[in-house]
Amino acid sequence: MTLPQRSKTQPPPVSTSPTPTPSVTSGTGTSWATVGKSGTVEKNISIAPKKATPRKYVLLNADDQRLDERLARPDKPAMDSLHDRITNRGKVCNDFHLLGVCRTQHCPFSHEPKLTAMEQLALRHKARNKLCSSYDECRDTECYWGHVCPYDPSCTYGVCFFGEMHGIDKRAAKKWFPDGTTEPVAA
Ligand SMILES: [Zn+2]
Ligand SMILES: [Zn+2]
Ligand SMILES: [Zn+2]
Repeated sequence: MTLPQRSKTQPPPVSTSPTPTPSVTSGTGTSWATVGKSGTVEKNISIAPKKATPRKYVLLNADDQRLDERLARPDKPAMDSLHDRITNRGKVCNDFHLLGVCRTQHCPFSHEPKLTAMEQLALRHKARNKLCSSYDECRDTECYWGHVCPYDPSCTYGVCFFGEMHGIDKRAAKKWFPDGTTEPVAA
C-alpha cells in the first residue's frame, strides 16, 4: 500500500476554479437544484423562463413621429365572422380581445366568446382605422389605435380622420423602448 508522499512544506492546494458552493441567500440556486442525479429527465425541470419575451417598442420615423407596424391581412371568413358578430351582438371590447385584459368596470362591449386569432387580426385592423388621441406622440407600446393614415399618400377620403397625419415620413427610423432608449432600424 503506497500513499502519496506529502511533504510538510507543500502548500495547501490552491483552487484555481471557483468552487460551486451552494448559495444560501441568493436566488441563483435554481440551476444547481434542477440538475437531475442520474439523468432522469422528468426531474430536470428548469425554473428559469425558457424564452426571453421580446422587448416591446414603438416604431418612429426620423422626426420621432409614431408609425404603425405593418399587420398581416386577415382572411375573408374571419373579417365576415367578426362583422357578423358585431352586427348581431354589439361591439367587441378591444382591450379584452387585443390586450387580453379589460379593466373597465361594467364594460359595455362584448368579451365572451373569445375571438379566434384571425378574428383578432381583423379587429386589430378595425382599430387601426381610428386615430389615436395622442396622435404621433403616442408612446404606448400596447396602443392598437391608428397613428398613420392607412391610405396615405393616395387617401381619397374627403374628410379623413387622419388628415393631420397625411404626408408624414412613413419610413421607420428607430425603435423606441419604454425605458426611453432607442435603437436604429435598418432601412
Ligand atoms: Zn371590456
Ligand atoms: Zn396611440
Ligand atoms: Zn387619409
